[in-house]
Amino acid sequence: MSIQKTPEKNSILFVWLNNYAGILLKTPSKTLAIDPVDVKPKALQNVDAILITHEHYDHLDPRLIVEIQKETNCTIIADAASTKKLQHAIPNDKLQEVKPGSEIKIGEVTVKAEKSNHPAQAPVTYIITSEDQVKVYHTADSLPFPELAKLGQKEKFDVVFCTVGIAPSATPQTGFEIAWLTKPQVAVPYHTATTASQKEFAELLKKELPRTACLIPEQNKIYQVSKRK
Ligand SMILES: [Zn+2]
Repeated sequence: MSIQKTPEKNSILFVWLNNYAGILLKTPSKTLAIDPVDVKPKALQNVDAILITHEHYDHLDPRLIVEIQKETNCTIIADAASTKKLQHAIPNDKLQEVKPGSEIKIGEVTVKAEKSNHPAQAPVTYIITSEDQVKVYHTADSLPFPELAKLGQKEKFDVVFCTVGIAPSATPQTGFEIAWLTKPQVAVPYHTATTASQKEFAELLKKELPRTACLIPEQNKIYQVSKRK
C-alpha cells in the first residue's frame, strides 16, 4: 500500500495498514510509517522514516523493518527496547532511539515522543507535526492517562488515533477516553479486528464529545484530514 497522490496544502493523507496500530502517513513532503507489521516490504517503498512505539510483535517486526530500511535507506525512530532489537542490523546513523520528550526532525516534519500507558518495556506515543502544522497523535496501544488533557490543550490535535481493542484492558471506552482527554478535530478508532468496537467508540463520541468527528477507517484505504480552521 503506497500512497501515490500528494496531500493538498494543510492536509495529510493516512492509511490504516493492519488490525493493530499500523499507519502510513503522508504529508506534502514526507512519508512515514508507524508500527508496520503484516505488510509486504514492497508496500512501503517510499517511506522516509519508520516510527516504532514498542517491542510487542504486533508493532515491531524486526525482519520487516530491516528489509524496508535496506530498500529505502529510511530513518528508523524507535523506543529503547525496539532499538535494542534492531541495532545490530540497522546502520548506526539511521537508527534513532527516543524516550518521552525526544524530538526529531524528518526534513520539516517534526516527530515528538511522548509517554505511553501500556505494559511494554519503554513504550512511547508519537506526535507528528507536518510542515504546515497539521498535528497527528499516534497513541499506539496506550490506555488513557491524565497528562493527555494538557497535551490536547497545548497541541490542538487534528487527528488522534485511539486504540479500541486487542491490547491489554483496551476497549471502546478507553479509546473514547483518549479522545475525550485530547479533544481532537478528528478521532480515529483502530487496533481492533471488529467493526463493532469501532461503532461503539463512534456512539460514545457522538454522545459525549459531539465536536470531535469520528472517522472509522477501513484498512488499506486512503483518508485525507485537513488542518483545523
Ligand atoms: Zn498492539
